[in-house]
Amino acid sequence: MRHLYLHVPFCTGRCAYCAFVSGPPGDPEAYVAGLLREAAARGVGAAGPLETLYCGGGTPALLGEAGFRRLAASGLFTLAPGAEWTVELHPAATTRALARTLAGLGVTRLSLGVQSFDDAALARCNRRHTARQALEAIETARAAVPDTGIDLIAGLPGVSPAAWTRTLRRAAGLGLPHVSVYALTVEPGSAWGRAGLPAPDPDALCDAIAEAAETLAGAGLRRYETSNYALPGRACRHNLNTWRGGDYLGLGRGAASRLGRLRRAGDGSEETLSEEADALERALTALRTAEGFDPEAAAARFPVLAPRLGRWRRLLAAFRAEGLLDARNAPTTRGHEVADALARALL
Ligand code: SF4
Repeated sequence: MRHLYLHVPFCTGRCAYCAFVSGPPGDPEAYVAGLLREAAARGVGAAGPLETLYCGGGTPALLGEAGFRRLAASGLFTLAPGAEWTVELHPAATTRALARTLAGLGVTRLSLGVQSFDDAALARCNRRHTARQALEAIETARAAVPDTGIDLIAGLPGVSPAAWTRTLRRAAGLGLPHVSVYALTVEPGSAWGRAGLPAPDPDALCDAIAEAAETLAGAGLRRYETSNYALPGRACRHNLNTWRGGDYLGLGRGAASRLGRLRRAGDGSEETLSEEADALERALTALRTAEGFDPEAAAARFPVLAPRLGRWRRLLAAFRAEGLLDARNAPTTRGHEVADALARALL
């Protein structure tokens, strides 16, 4: 296994849009011990060095410096030379000591959940930090780990177009190597879903994301996946592996895995896909990426998909003619707006 995800399902509060598996930190020490047992049982250490390791959540910082030291000292998570190790950080949990410890242990990327630079929006989201705290956390993080990026959410309620423009300009002005911009979805299991908050207006959301793409492009950040922007050579390699249809193992409560045809969902349920369903899932995510979808390469990699080639070529030509895909079958700005529908059409 070359790509490993460690999930830390702890949060000190509940963001209003969140429906992830997370809860109050119980016993971080016991949780780390559980992760190590699970890793050993799944042969993680014996499978050779990792190319990417991603610690997400939840709030991984709640493992504490001691928790990360213990993970690193276990010898189970050996990194190959030049490997990528990302840790997600909540701005309110980002301290100089933690950032330095992570850097010392070999963490190469930090990803901060900033979501907005608008204090009113952050308060409505119950994010538990302000814009100023987020800016301070970014400086703290990148002083220790220069490859520090942030996440933003487009379509948050009550954020005017002018306020969104301010958030984007602020993000673009920071000189960050990586920014993710997610469209708000109102999940039924979230506080906003339960309160009946309407979904963002689709046209306004498309405008907000198109503005993000333009503003971030002005800062040299290229859209390499529908929701992700990076300076050249600074894309997240862990996520790239997923979008390129690679395997990954997830450990911890709420972590998903893709191992051959086996899928393990965050709730622990398992399903074995047919050869065709597995191949389609792995091949079609390319339609969300700047690398684009190469139907011939997909059919060569997954012979079970070869009978679809003729239909794919016709559909892809139609999408290119409509301006949804470019010559490499990578989504244009309009294509990104309907990236999931394009993939569904090719199923
Ligand atoms: S969005 Fe992240 S920080 Fe907020 S409750 Fe969900 S997992 Fe926790």
